[in-house]
Amino acid sequence: IVSKLPDVGTSIFSVMTQLAQECGAINLAQGFPDYDPPLALQEALTRHARTAGHHQYAPMPGLPRLREAIAAKTARVYGVPAPDPATEITVTCGATEALYAVLAAVVHPGDEVLVLEPAYDLYGPAIRLQGGVPVYVPLTSPTFRPDWDRVRAALTPRTRLIMLNSPHNPSGAVLSAADLDTLADILADTNILVLSDEVYEHMVFDGQPHGSVLQQPALRERAFVLSSFGKTYHATGWKVGYCVAPPALTAEVRRVHQFLTFAVSTPTQHALADVLAADPTHDQQLPAFYQPKRDLFRELLAESRFELLPVPGGYFQLARYARISTEPDVAFAQRLTREAGVAVVPVSAFYHNGHDEGLIRFCFAKQDTTLRAAAERLRLL
Ligand code: PMP
Ligand code: GLN
Repeated sequence: IVSKLPDVGTSIFSVMTQLAQECGAINLAQGFPDYDPPLALQEALTRHARTAGHHQYAPMPGLPRLREAIAAKTARVYGVPAPDPATEITVTCGATEALYAVLAAVVHPGDEVLVLEPAYDLYGPAIRLQGGVPVYVPLTSPTFRPDWDRVRAALTPRTRLIMLNSPHNPSGAVLSAADLDTLADILADTNILVLSDEVYEHMVFDGQPHGSVLQQPALRERAFVLSSFGKTYHATGWKVGYCVAPPALTAEVRRVHQFLTFAVSTPTQHALADVLAADPTHDQQLPAFYQPKRDLFRELLAESRFELLPVPGGYFQLARYARISTEPDVAFAQRLTREAGVAVVPVSAFYHNGHDEGLIRFCFAKQDTTLRAAAERLRLL
């Protein structure tokens, strides 16, 4: 068989989780919580799993009651006009499916897609599978903020789409309202679309607001904005996300979604709709839940030889290990997993060419006991 992605191996997240399991290491590599979703959500799922009539295909775009709850939540959180559940919201199998469906819907062979690097590992391969050409623009080191002049300079008549990710994986960098205004100016006289991956939208710290593309009117009208209930409800295994986009763009996403997965698990959607209605403030509590974890982990590593980068958002801590080793980051991450018993992700996995800044990524979406146990091992290095 002639591979369509000959240069792509197994995702680093699977690789490091498997290595962690083999070595019995504490897994701070793949981004998932080691605690469960809110009890009310688990109970809602149990309830719907035992409800007759909730076991067949959901409507293709998502359950109407879940789309209505998403619309209300979007308006409340961002103080913007609610997206129309009928024409502007599509429930997907995680943000992963939404990313793929959007790219498959809008990228024609030969189209260029601007990707700010480091970037989530799916972006480049998913663009290439459409025949698109990823055009990589480096984020500024070490703050991982976009250099908008470089973005402007990278645009060509073939640019179809620009991908944003804020809060950013792996760095946690957060785009401001001013950033979005600047991007709106840059795109003003073009037909370039925006794909905004906002799965960590509710993990923004130190009282900072998260600037959603939904709040920038000129961007919103050309944007697909994605979120994930996996992140917001500590339920990455449920694989439910969604895409908000204007009607004409949503129509294109749905053309793909209907043939990619058709619909998302029915009882799961009912459960999410229940908790969104019953506790509409859940997302507001997330900064107060995650910031102490960030602070605890940083405090525990303060005396270590790791140099910790700032974490404005998300649930990952980047660290420079130059005082411990001069190895490439992949070798260091593997050795840390095998010898120190703590699995991490090498940040070069987020670069298309394996660019290595000597950084590793820790996930701090873990119980405090897990963070303490990991830090005890890391402090010995
Ligand atoms: N985008 C980013 C930046 C992510 O970190 C993740 C989750 N790791 C996803 C998309 C995928 O989200 P989901 O789990 O909902 O498919
Ligand atoms: N988004 C998660 C991370 O960055 C992993 C998701 C996955 O394993 N595909 O770790």
